[in-house]
Amino acid sequence: MENVIITSDQNVQNIEDIFIHLRKNTQAIKDTNAKQRIKKLKSLEKYILDHRSEIQSAIHHDFKKNPTETDATEILSTLGLLRHTKKNLKKWMKPTKVGTPLSMLGTSSKVIEEPKGVCLIISPWNYPFYLAIGPLIYAIAAGNTVALKPSELSSNTSLFIEKMVKELFPPDEINVILGGVETSTKLLEKKFDHIFFTGSPQVGKVIMNAAAKHLTSVTLELGGKSPTVLLNDTDLKDAADKITWGKFINAGQTCIAPDYCLIPKELETQFIDQMQNTINEFYSPDGEIIELSKDFARIISKKHFLRLQHLIHDAAEKGATVMMNGEMHEDSKYIPPTIISNVSDDMLIMQEEIFGPILPIKTYTQIEEALSYISSKEKPLALYIFGQKKKDINHVLKNTTAGGTSINETVIHINNPELPFGGVNNSGIGKSHGIYGFKGFSNQRAILKNRVGMTGIKPVYPPYGNLATKL
Ligand code: NAD
Repeated sequence: MENVIITSDQNVQNIEDIFIHLRKNTQAIKDTNAKQRIKKLKSLEKYILDHRSEIQSAIHHDFKKNPTETDATEILSTLGLLRHTKKNLKKWMKPTKVGTPLSMLGTSSKVIEEPKGVCLIISPWNYPFYLAIGPLIYAIAAGNTVALKPSELSSNTSLFIEKMVKELFPPDEINVILGGVETSTKLLEKKFDHIFFTGSPQVGKVIMNAAAKHLTSVTLELGGKSPTVLLNDTDLKDAADKITWGKFINAGQTCIAPDYCLIPKELETQFIDQMQNTINEFYSPDGEIIELSKDFARIISKKHFLRLQHLIHDAAEKGATVMMNGEMHEDSKYIPPTIISNVSDDMLIMQEEIFGPILPIKTYTQIEEALSYISSKEKPLALYIFGQKKKDINHVLKNTTAGGTSINETVIHINNPELPFGGVNNSGIGKSHGIYGFKGFSNQRAILKNRVGMTGIKPVYPPYGNLATKL
């Protein structure tokens, strides 16, 4: 089945109306307690479990993703965030008592977590369920009303999300608005209290610009090129397994996929051989062509396929060595796992986020070369380090920055909800997951209380006279 076309503006006329109703309902939703919010999360959890095969099938229709992969990366990962929230919400919602300086003795202070109000969530197509429902979990937990616009490209999943939300929540609490750029643009005209956007850095700038008009706070979960550094004592078999999985899962359409590898020159050939072995072990265990593997996803759209094809052709024309495990097919939007060596900076593949099943390998002779290469680029969403000596690993950590880092692993730091998830500058602003997700949808309101008849700071009222002020 082809993707259903979601016409861009089928809901544009309704946006004003939807927004007014969401706004009217904020106080009622704000007044809900932890028990009531947990109840909502439980009904969402039950719905997801009851409709597991429907979710798998929608995502399979969108880009032929294997149901087991959908289980792991869309369903279980969403449930992981949800269950962690259910377990911790009471604690997160409790006011935090803070200390009082001596000069303010007699007063007491605390921080309360207040819902922001009406929130907008705009999500991408690449993990269409997880990246829409993940932020929604935190918006619900924090007590907000929500307009959710999932991606028009993963239309089967977006239609499922619309149905699910309609069945679970009243439209003045959570409202799914289907559509593309035109719908997003209309939504962004409204004065939301918070916008949570997941998508590309280019569109992130559009979102931030629109938010600036109302001084609306934003969480921007963006992308970019995530480097993978292999040190000279890397266990190459272990690294190849983990990099192959992290890179080729979802056919490379993963925001935190290793974008490219940096490896000592003397390990390059051995590493490429090992990667090729692992690719065959994973996707062609019986020697069949990889295209027949049920475990390898397709590219989301023709446009995205053509962009990736162009990246490969451009690299080949400029002298790179392209090792493609099969042939590309435009009709089925299939690009086989591909490794590219002898890359240089004038190649597009080393300039744009790849977001597809293509892994460039760049060599270095001294680690400082690799570190200054990384530092000369935008700050990445993820950075991976493979190696064994703690000192060398720490050296890479200290001389780079990233939203998140897995050491001797790829991708899975996203699955620990105790860790903040997000980027730095070009790869994102603000954090999500666990308490960070909850706080992102909340206003940390400062509360100071005094007793009637007491003054908190002395001397405080004029006339000041010549009372000495001790600094
Ligand atoms: P995108 O930025 O093209 O689209 C994301 C959403 O924004 C969609 O809902 C789309 O309809 C909307 N949109 C697109 N253009 C718009 C515009 N001009 N104005 C307003 N809204 C607009 O991103 P995508 O192609 O769906 O996803 C790929 C990008 O997302 C990659 O850069 C990837 O790294 C990033 N990403 C980041 C994370 C993360 O958690 N940091 C997760 C997944 C994807």
